[in-house]
Amino acid sequence: MHALEIIGRKRDGCEHPPEEIRALLRGYLDGSVPDYQMSAWLMAVCLRGMTRAETLALTMAMVESGETLDLSGIPGIKVDKHSTGGVGDKVTLIAAPLAAACGVRVPKLSGRALAHTGGTLDKLESVPGVTVDLEPDRFVEQVSRVGLAVAAQSPRMVPADRAVYALRDASATVPSVPLIASSVMSKKLAAGADAIVLDVKFGRGAFMPDAEAARELAAEMVRIGEGAGRRTVALVTAMDSPLGRCVGNALEVLEAIEVLDGGGDPDLAAVSVEVAGEMCALAGAGGDPARALQDGSALERLWAMLEAQGGSRDRPPAAHPARLTVPAPASGWVAAIDALQCGLAVIDLGGGRRRKDDPIDHGVGLTIAAPVGARVRAGDPLVRIHAADEATARRALPRLEPAWRIAEHPMDAVPHVLHRVAGTTGAA
Ligand code: URA
Repeated sequence: MHALEIIGRKRDGCEHPPEEIRALLRGYLDGSVPDYQMSAWLMAVCLRGMTRAETLALTMAMVESGETLDLSGIPGIKVDKHSTGGVGDKVTLIAAPLAAACGVRVPKLSGRALAHTGGTLDKLESVPGVTVDLEPDRFVEQVSRVGLAVAAQSPRMVPADRAVYALRDASATVPSVPLIASSVMSKKLAAGADAIVLDVKFGRGAFMPDAEAARELAAEMVRIGEGAGRRTVALVTAMDSPLGRCVGNALEVLEAIEVLDGGGDPDLAAVSVEVAGEMCALAGAGGDPARALQDGSALERLWAMLEAQGGSRDRPPAAHPARLTVPAPASGWVAAIDALQCGLAVIDLGGGRRRKDDPIDHGVGLTIAAPVGARVRAGDPLVRIHAADEATARRALPRLEPAWRIAEHPMDAVPHVLHRVAGTTGAA
């Protein structure tokens, strides 16, 4: 069937059989379907949607477009964890070692910062000596020996998503549940784990605007995972305010170490333990992540992973000193902190990229002195800005000064984890 007919069928609201989807993707990758036809089809998908069968077929066609990781040499049930992206989100760096300390094998392929959200690979590269480029044999050996590895995805995996994602970015066709779900899940399925825990974020600092949209995306991703034979659970979590107290690559690794050492922000510790608990449940591991947090075994796992990837506990990541502080303009209670503006402020400091090849300064970032719920007096510090010098720190002020909303009265605490979405194999 010609691409024009396939596009017309989606325009008219018909359901594609899997072979039509495969043919279109194949044609796009071999150049016989040009960008303008592919973007017309993507826009038709945005407007018409896709059935569950179509979304699964699209996901599997993307997986089949490239290499997949064979993890069969690693004993036991392997569990991956994925976040749809947020500000200050260092949960992977805490939950993965917690799960590994409980006996779960965690093979994790991560991404770099996307828009205003941080990326786990950039955080890891703030640790001197650490590499995220692991060849498949080394990756598998490390997961078998240490229990976890976090590495970059090979460009040979899911090339169809790479090509289609770039086109979506340039054709206003990113915000579509079936397109986002198939994009994320194709990468997870290609990465080879038996089970997947998804952290689907919503709010100012996330790509999904509200809890309902995030829940719909979570349900679609769980269906794809289960449809492909992987145990899958999703947590729908709030991302209106930054997670934890630090935003910025080195600062976030240091914060993760602090939490694994038994300290740090209690909300961050609680959500990390919850995510690790889901990973343990999917793997059938009997360990208790809360205990692994207290007894130091998870911190030991994190260092073992960093050392296996070239780091050393004698050389922890180094953040720049705090150069400036933003004072509270009035007395009251912190009602909200705009996560989007915090994420953009870190990019302004040089901690994220405006273009794909921009170098980044891993040492810049923010330390939140007054989190949501804190009582402040006028002049108290709200946030400290870390940068190489004061002039650089100043760049973040225009975004940070209005980012804190101070209320006259205390607000009710909002739960961080709003929903849990499970398929039949991940049922609680
Ligand atoms: N992240 C992805 O990997 N794909 C999307 O479509 C959106 C966010």
